[in-house]
Amino acid sequence: MKNSLNQKTSEILNWELIQEDFKIKFGNDVFESWLKKMELKEINTDNLLISVPTRFIRDWITSRYLDNVIQVIKSHNKNINRIEFKINPSSKAIYSNGDIANKNNPNSSTEDANITFIKDSFIQYNRIDPNRNFQNFVIGPSNSLAYEASKKITENTSSYNPLYLYSGVGMGKTHLLNAIGLKLKNNKKVLFISAERFMYHFVKSIKSNEMIKFKDYFRNTDVLLIDDIQFMNGKEALQEEFFHTFSALLEKGSQIVLTADRPPNKLSRIQERIKSRFSGGLVVDIQNPDLNLRSEILKNKLSELSVLNGKSIDITKDVQNFICSEIKSSVRELVGALNRIVSFTRIYNKTPNLSETRIILKDLLNISEKNVTIDNIQTIVCKYFKISKNEMLSSRRSRYLVRPRQTAIYLAKMLTSKSLPEIGRCFSNRDHTTVIHSVKTIEKLRKEDNELNLKIDTLKNKILYNKEDEI
Ligand code: ADP
Ligand code: MG
Repeated sequence: MKNSLNQKTSEILNWELIQEDFKIKFGNDVFESWLKKMELKEINTDNLLISVPTRFIRDWITSRYLDNVIQVIKSHNKNINRIEFKINPSSKAIYSNGDIANKNNPNSSTEDANITFIKDSFIQYNRIDPNRNFQNFVIGPSNSLAYEASKKITENTSSYNPLYLYSGVGMGKTHLLNAIGLKLKNNKKVLFISAERFMYHFVKSIKSNEMIKFKDYFRNTDVLLIDDIQFMNGKEALQEEFFHTFSALLEKGSQIVLTADRPPNKLSRIQERIKSRFSGGLVVDIQNPDLNLRSEILKNKLSELSVLNGKSIDITKDVQNFICSEIKSSVRELVGALNRIVSFTRIYNKTPNLSETRIILKDLLNISEKNVTIDNIQTIVCKYFKISKNEMLSSRRSRYLVRPRQTAIYLAKMLTSKSLPEIGRCFSNRDHTTVIHSVKTIEKLRKEDNELNLKIDTLKNKILYNKEDEI
């Protein structure tokens, strides 16, 4: 397995910078214990392939930090919206860590491995998650059709073939696909794979003249679940092959379920006849959840989490209502918001009140990104410290300018999703290392200097909620 990424790759994404951002965002402890163990392996159009040394680390990272990890990565490359994990016990991290794991398995990652490679990677990348099932999928008017259709598939194969589910992000498509796979996998040969990975294997097998094996492998599948089909793209010849494989599966009666972020006719870069195949079965969409469904989902997740923790998690009705009424855009964000609140209660051993909730969920609430710009932060910080903007942006290093400048840089990092270089640019083209230095300095000072700490909280409130009176 190649360890170094190619030139082009490192141009698109500077992993070292991202790691710096992780340290800042999550703190050194979390970084050292977990995030440092992620090794970047591949950059694809919308996702990254990252290897970690153990399953546990992967699960820990995905359950606790994934949303924020993706957010940080997005600030460097906005096209990335997914991470695929690969468990690689031979990762460097494992040895430095002394973790127990198998030493390098000589068969595990040979570049020219064929069908087993496909199987292995299918298992590694696409493990069906037992926690996403039909029982814990909450139904409301916006998703009931998708739910019923998916359920039907598991009761009576080939009632709708293919079934095509579409919606915006975070609405439960992958959950349903997973639920179908989970229900059927004991009795049928199920393949659950993202469209991107599917195409990757497709291309790989064509290049290495393994098409026959590839086709055999797929021909043996009873249920093919392809997630995020909008990312399928490819040259004519590739689409040709895909069309035939797809048709062959349908003809032999294999069940196919596809998900996408848009209806079949809106898919770009895909041949008409493939689109028409996609819409040949049943096409169902999932709409945004209404308030009622959001509140049901929240209640359900809360009791799931309570069971998981072995004790009930008390979150005030106020806070619950706040979350349901403010986080409207997707179920994923709703669940993410709840997870944050629960982490807060665990770490601080108390239930957050409304204003703490606002801060914890800052970046998920509409108030954040829309109004918080670096320019705005600079203006507010300058006014507060009674310096001019020219002074703040100048290269002068007098003490009365340095602190406000560092404070503004720190707040820019904390309150916006801008990357370090982007922030640097807004401060007269300062280098990203200066940005890191400022953030670290203020972080340190916040711990030591209570007065400054209060000032920064005041500034934060002002920037986020425009509360004049608190300054
Ligand atoms: P999508 O694939 O549409 O982007 P996901 O299936 O990944 O969305 O859903 C995002 C998160 O929201 C997951 O944690 C999923 O379990 C949860 N979720 C979505 N819809 C529901 C629902 N109706 N009931 C319970 N959980 C849901
Ligand atoms: Mg999905």
